[in-house]
Amino acid sequence: MAKYIFITGGVVSSVGKGITVASIGTILKSRQITVSVQKLDPYLNVDPGTMSPYQHGEVFVTQDGAETDLDLGNYERFIDVNLTAESNVTTGQIYSAVIAKERRGDFLGGTIQVVPHVTTEIKEQFKKLAEKSKARVVIIEVGGTVGDIEGQPFLEAIRQMRNDVGRDNVLYVHVTLLPYLTSTQELKTKPTQHSVNELRRIGVQPDIIICRSDYPISEGIRDKISLFCDVDRKAVIPLPTVDTIYEVPLLLEEEGLGQLVVNKLGLKARKPDLSQWQELVRRIKGPLEPVNIALVGKYVELQDAYFSVREALCHAAFYHNRCLDLHWVHSEELEKDGTDTLLRSAQGIIVPGGFGVRGIEGMVKAASYARNNEIPYLGLCLGMHVMVIELARYAVGSTEPNSAEFDASTPYPVIDLLPEQKAIENKGGTMRLGNYPCQLVDGSRAAKAYGQSLVYERHRHRFEFNNEFRDILQKAGMIYSGLSPDGRLVELCELANHPWMVSCQFHPEFGSRPGRPHPLFRDFIGVAKDILREGAQPSLPLSP
Ligand code: GLN
Repeated sequence: MAKYIFITGGVVSSVGKGITVASIGTILKSRQITVSVQKLDPYLNVDPGTMSPYQHGEVFVTQDGAETDLDLGNYERFIDVNLTAESNVTTGQIYSAVIAKERRGDFLGGTIQVVPHVTTEIKEQFKKLAEKSKARVVIIEVGGTVGDIEGQPFLEAIRQMRNDVGRDNVLYVHVTLLPYLTSTQELKTKPTQHSVNELRRIGVQPDIIICRSDYPISEGIRDKISLFCDVDRKAVIPLPTVDTIYEVPLLLEEEGLGQLVVNKLGLKARKPDLSQWQELVRRIKGPLEPVNIALVGKYVELQDAYFSVREALCHAAFYHNRCLDLHWVHSEELEKDGTDTLLRSAQGIIVPGGFGVRGIEGMVKAASYARNNEIPYLGLCLGMHVMVIELARYAVGSTEPNSAEFDASTPYPVIDLLPEQKAIENKGGTMRLGNYPCQLVDGSRAAKAYGQSLVYERHRHRFEFNNEFRDILQKAGMIYSGLSPDGRLVELCELANHPWMVSCQFHPEFGSRPGRPHPLFRDFIGVAKDILREGAQPSLPLSP
């Protein structure tokens, strides 16, 4: 039977609970313990697919096509697993399921209540993931912080689990923040004491407390938390802010968290092997020459909207022994200012995914700048639409070509809906989602990057390349380097006579891993790093 680790958050959100969860997974996996992970999101949406990136950050897509919380991306990258729809549970899903059962008559005669009906449905989701994944340890992160009204049924469900599956099979970990007071120059434990009290009030006593802080945590503070919160002294784990998130598993391991979890859950484990992580962190921290990349998007004020894109760029930069110098360029700014002011120093330009017309013309300008100045360009989903629109405008000598998403009456809808998408009215979960096959065309840059002929990549879009315009664009230099196996859908395209201008209809960023960058990102950075921009000089050899 699976063992469960439940992770709650205290004091404030955004202290890196998701990274901590992912790191616990990493240190267990390094001991050859199989792990799976689930995120519980207390909001009433069924999934984050219909939310604005400003509300939610990136929507992460699993291979099986679920639109999920961005923490799943961190779990996948850290633990190197491909998760499924079962790994993200929202209040919206739980209530939909309970109400559907009520309508079917499953509870005939009964009054449907939060306890037991909602909590039972939640627990069924824990067990479903345990059964499907067959993991030895299932780690479950409760979103939000203790005390939120919406989170109560989830906390009640995790409380019940200790009794349901036995005390030795459940571990409660609380991640909290120790705020620093500048006036007295000290870290404060009182908010942690309050949030642990709140947890205890509903019957959950944490076994381990992980203390996030921007400053080193003294032994005295650890003693105090241990005393007031009734947790073993060695189960108070300090986690100060670090330069790179990829260092967190190493820090937690150093503090003895891995052995503690193994002991408390009575797990059989091998000696931990974190050598790959040590090597990665050594590489990241080493003196590295930067590679300057401009990310052109319209949600750049909220960088979480592009979480996986930024991580995939970092992975590729580390691979080439570079550090990523990422410039966030607002596409609406590009519409006002000249491209040269904002893109002058970029060695590569990336246009990631997005929805709606705002900022599109700025992105088209960025694609045009990349094409005319021979700057490497990587277009992701919307970034491909933009590249197609830009080349079409050049090919027909008019500004009319567009995507039907932005101009429904354009005479040149180079990007359009497929007939089957036109009939769909509901917005939630109705895009082309998840893994689809893509056949690569021999001799293309894309085929060279992948080194294989058939690949599967994750999608999240409604609009597609319009085949009516294949010939016109081909004459202007477009190469269709990846197609659906039936040849009907353009999945990858690239420009002839350009150092590297490649776009894909899918989202390769979701498949990149710290030690295994995605081939398209890897080759994009590989070409970009050698591009010389204004003021730059070629690097000199270190020895004569
Ligand atoms: N808005 C475009 C579409 O729906 C692109 C989506 C995306 O970039 N993920 O097709």
